[in-house]
Amino acid sequence: RTVYVNGEYLPETDAKISIFDRGFLMADAVYEVTSVLDGKLIDFEGHAVRLKRSLDALDMAEPCTKDELLDIHRKLVELNEINEGLIYLQVTRGSDGDRDFVFPSEDTAPTIVLFTQNKPGLADSPAARKGAKIISIDDIRWGRRDIKTVQLLYPSMGKMMAKKAGADDAWMIEDGYVTEGTSNNAYFVKNGTIVTRPLSNDILHGITRKAVLRMAEEAQMKIEERLFTIDEAKEADEAFTTSASAFVMPVVEIDGVALGDGTPGPIACRLREIYLEESRAAAV
Ligand code: PMP
Repeated sequence: RTVYVNGEYLPETDAKISIFDRGFLMADAVYEVTSVLDGKLIDFEGHAVRLKRSLDALDMAEPCTKDELLDIHRKLVELNEINEGLIYLQVTRGSDGDRDFVFPSEDTAPTIVLFTQNKPGLADSPAARKGAKIISIDDIRWGRRDIKTVQLLYPSMGKMMAKKAGADDAWMIEDGYVTEGTSNNAYFVKNGTIVTRPLSNDILHGITRKAVLRMAEEAQMKIEERLFTIDEAKEADEAFTTSASAFVMPVVEIDGVALGDGTPGPIACRLREIYLEESRAAAV
């Protein structure tokens, strides 16, 4: 694989970052994951805007312009011959050569890394045809989940808890209400109405969430943005999650309770189709 590190395209085995990098020592870093379909970027604009928002929220410098970022994404897709897959981007606060809780001086160069992941079958996914089984777990993450930081230890632990329980993923619960999935936004559908938690500091402002809600509205579907409990979701007709890497993923079971007939629901499947079709058409 050819990867990108601080202005250079290199074989992955030659890529180097300082051991003092704050991304490594402090999780002082933000990231984005953009999907690639037909060799083109899905919603690059949305990811670029959110990256800027995350950087601003943490007083982190922008490593390059949006146009440069687009060029890097495209060049990596080309060099690695990605038809379907993902591009991972991470920006850290860099380092001034030692470990210190205090931020380094403002002229310290940020670190920027991008790499591709080849994923044939990303769109025509067997997992999406089957639907996901999820469990619920406590949400014990920090209070700024709207900033896309690389603090992913708890979400990783959540995925492991799900795996141990024979499930695919976990939804997190805080103060009695579902926040989101470990790496996706959460929805249920009851009597034709799509319910999802409103945006706040408590959840990531999903790029896919925004697009899917817009498409649902255009398709005259009813949407309620409000807090909901896991019990409500268990009694739903269907449920699903959204993320840039899995698009719209039907959920067929919550904490061992099958939703509807236990197969992917019609609204989730229709939204997945619409999302894939429209996103492909708008890809850059
Ligand atoms: N919530 C969390 C916690 C996530 O990690 C992600 C994926 N990065 C999402 C939601 C979905 O966001 P997006 O649609 O932008 O991928």
